[in-house]
Amino acid sequence: MERQTRAFDLAQVRAETPGCTEVLHFNNAGAALMPQPVVDSVSAHLQREARHGGYEAAEEAREALVHVYEAVAMLLGCQPSEVALVENATRAWDMAFYAIPFAPGDRILTGMAEYASNYLAFLQMTRRTGVRVEVIPDDEYGQISLSALRNAIDEHVRVIALTHVPTNNGLVNPAAEVGRIAREAGVLYLLDATQSVGQMPLDVRTLGCDILAGTGRKFLRGPRGTGFLYVRQEVLEQLEPPLIDLHAASWTAPDQYALRPDARRFECWEASIANRLGLGAAIDYFLQWDQQRLWRRIRDLAYLLRTRLTPLPGVIVHDRGVVQGGIVTFTVEGWEAEMIRQALRRQHINVSVVSQQAALLDMQAHGLQTLVRASVHYYNSEEEVERFARALEHLLAG
Ligand SMILES: *Cc1c(COP(=O)(O)O)cnc(C)c1O
Repeated sequence: MERQTRAFDLAQVRAETPGCTEVLHFNNAGAALMPQPVVDSVSAHLQREARHGGYEAAEEAREALVHVYEAVAMLLGCQPSEVALVENATRAWDMAFYAIPFAPGDRILTGMAEYASNYLAFLQMTRRTGVRVEVIPDDEYGQISLSALRNAIDEHVRVIALTHVPTNNGLVNPAAEVGRIAREAGVLYLLDATQSVGQMPLDVRTLGCDILAGTGRKFLRGPRGTGFLYVRQEVLEQLEPPLIDLHAASWTAPDQYALRPDARRFECWEASIANRLGLGAAIDYFLQWDQQRLWRRIRDLAYLLRTRLTPLPGVIVHDRGVVQGGIVTFTVEGWEAEMIRQALRRQHINVSVVSQQAALLDMQAHGLQTLVRASVHYYNSEEEVERFARALEHLLAG
């Protein structure tokens, strides 16, 4: 059934985003500007906690909290029982990854653009259990090579772990095609959707992933300190979380416990209720629109920005891939990325700097130390792209 969607009106969207009058914000891959309903939802709950008490406020918000799980489920096309709310994408991903019962000799397959924290967990797991991590090379477009991945499959492959959209590139990896390979091979598929969620429509059935982690503050425009985990029902029953508490499990006898049957076995009881409500508000806000429409707009704005930056003297745009999203990365000859960030910041223009360590394999393979990352969102305007390009041009002309 088609949901009724709200017509997209840029002026209205910007009016609902208080930060739009303060900054030119191209740091959406770092933390996007929150829309007013998100801010309202978080601050209203803090007010209730202050006036009624923290536990009592949570009780008052019971239905709204139930709705947060439903919102994530709607966002991802899964069941609310397959959703855990976790404080960020890293811990969400970790809770699932460290729950996988690895055996010596198991192989983990991943891509060149894998995010640092995920790769660090692979390395730790290789030391602990004698698993092997193997990196599938990129294809000629710079995305994970599907043929190399297919060729790498054998009975020792335990998991395929992929970063959908890397932190350091406009690249969008072919996550659904990887999902098809994982399904055919009967291998667990762990998808890091931290930079893709909120940019593009996602559906775990289409993606074919068993596990997906995402964050609230990036393209979803939620508050900081929020994240979520999807674990497919059939898989979650086999996963013993690495850490449990009295919410994840019940203490059924002095020497016994029973894990929750749903994905909340990956949660911890104590959490910021205000932030969780803010995450729900951010997802509700995103789901109002035709997501394809927003995704097209993000791609168009990023394309426009790349087109404006490419001819500037000394500027090299580094994005690749068949499909390119809202993350625009570049270097400037003779300039430290951090100097550019600071100079723009003085003009209330926000970008971020990606360090080599954030995606070491990919950055080293391309001989990159640091990058300037200008990440656009649907609420940014064509006028901002132009203003950004002029500001950079002016800066470089010194
Ligand atoms: C930011 C990022 C993460 C980590 O997300 P947190 O919410 O900060 O834990 C993971 N993967 C990718 C690709 C990221 O860009």
